[in-house]
Amino acid sequence: MTRPARIKGIAASIGVAVGPARVIGRGRRRLSHRRIEPRAVSSELARFAQAVSKSHAEIETAKQELTQRHGPTYAPILDVYLLMHGDALLIDAISETIREEQINAEWAVSRVADRLKKPLLEDASSYFRERASDIDHVKEHLLRHLSGEQRSDRSTDGPTVLIAHDLTPADAVHMLAPPTVGLVTELGALSSHTAILARTFGVPAVVGVGPLPTEIEDDELVLVDGFSGDVTVGASPEERDAAEKRRDRFTAFLEAERSTHAVTRDGVSISVTANVELPTEVEAALENGAEGIGLYRTEFMCLDRREPPSEDEQLELYRKVVTAMAPKAVVFRTFDWRGDKRVRAHDLRKRERAWLKTQIKAVLRASGEGSVALMFPMVATVEEYREARALVDECRGELGDRAARLAPLPVGMMVEVPSAALLAERFAEHADFFAVGTNDLAHFTLALDRRDSRSAAKPLDPAVLRLLERAITAASNAEIPCSMCGGMAADPVALGLVLGLGYRQISVPVSVVPLARAVIRNVDLDAAAEVARDALDCGSADAVRELVVDRLGAQLGALWKEQGLV
Ligand code: PEP
Ligand code: MG
Repeated sequence: MTRPARIKGIAASIGVAVGPARVIGRGRRRLSHRRIEPRAVSSELARFAQAVSKSHAEIETAKQELTQRHGPTYAPILDVYLLMHGDALLIDAISETIREEQINAEWAVSRVADRLKKPLLEDASSYFRERASDIDHVKEHLLRHLSGEQRSDRSTDGPTVLIAHDLTPADAVHMLAPPTVGLVTELGALSSHTAILARTFGVPAVVGVGPLPTEIEDDELVLVDGFSGDVTVGASPEERDAAEKRRDRFTAFLEAERSTHAVTRDGVSISVTANVELPTEVEAALENGAEGIGLYRTEFMCLDRREPPSEDEQLELYRKVVTAMAPKAVVFRTFDWRGDKRVRAHDLRKRERAWLKTQIKAVLRASGEGSVALMFPMVATVEEYREARALVDECRGELGDRAARLAPLPVGMMVEVPSAALLAERFAEHADFFAVGTNDLAHFTLALDRRDSRSAAKPLDPAVLRLLERAITAASNAEIPCSMCGGMAADPVALGLVLGLGYRQISVPVSVVPLARAVIRNVDLDAAAEVARDALDCGSADAVRELVVDRLGAQLGALWKEQGLV
């Protein structure tokens, strides 16, 4: 590999990191798979039980460290892994396999983990595939303790960029602390726990870069661009200098932006709320000045569970979030498990309908604690939306006295299926609000698979823009709020266009909230509206991007270029 070597991955945590590489877990573990004598079964079971207990203790320690660093709200990320250590389908099944098949513990661990992962990997949604990697993370801990290996330790000599095949969340808690300044992993996705932790700790990260060249050496200089997903190994002194300047400017920029307002050049206030996956992000949302939570992805609370939490368990979590955010509003989205999930009530199998009702009741009950709204994902027909809404009334009725004192709960829908955007004016007669999801909308409109990272759908495609225009026009005619919570609003180039199309509420990942405000302050709405009109007539997404950069670039000036966002 010549130097500088350039590697591309998924930009998982914004910021720029510069530092010498620290490569961990390079030597892949060689697993011995062997049959054991019947008389050796009990000692093998004891060896496995010991590995389980050591692995549990290690994660428990990481949880304590996480709590010390960021308070108790962060612990749930690791609770999931602790729970998996007592899971019958995983742990008991491994013991059973050792006993029944008379094979060594390493083999049994791999076999059971692979069996559990299979259906998850076959599922269409990245969410389920992420859960498969959670199983891999527990497997990694178990195998490490079975082999008696030590975990890599944080280096103590100065800032380092961690380079790993993958990092389990418990290891991430341990390693994503000073002196680690950046992270690069071969595996991982935006929604993986390790990526979430990198964002939580403010460590710039690029994940999912694929197989790394073997010759990356410890101490080679690495630049991590958490905006673009670019990693440079063996950068020149000039590149290093430029990256360090960008890093320092961005740090200063974030500090200065924490308490600013989102008002356009021509004085129009834009509401900037946060997209949240876990309660752990609420604190950061408030710190970054989010005006509320515009999208709470509740499916993240079902991590590694075969069933959603009970009504009371959900209520406790929702209450915590609502109380912490009060008086700011929180929009809970009902579980969105799969890209192909529909809320068509009559289609839902009995069990799923029961789950949905449990969730709706918990949200209804939490709504007494502050400002709460509920929305349904993946709505495709007016009929299914009306049925989903009717379910809310049914739940309210069933709550009886407990619901009597509650204020009405606004019920809205995601506009992320082309049919919903095309018939937005009809949906607007029934929905209290819209939240436009450009991630799914762009994929469905352009017939691209969300699983395929090579074919990133482009929300700037004129076909998608026309649907976005329909949705916002229908909402303003019906006088219902319409926010945009898909990734398009979080892209600083596209954001000018979003405002130009008429959107006045956006919801973006927590870490992007200050940046979005800075972009908004530099945009003039008249100019943006003109650009949006012209963009609708462009021939391609690339032409739209060029048009926006060309026409709004001067307004945004250094902001885009300095952060390397264009
Ligand atoms: C979207 O599809 O744009 C969206 C916000 O929902 P999710 O990314 O959770 O599918
Ligand atoms: Mg979606």
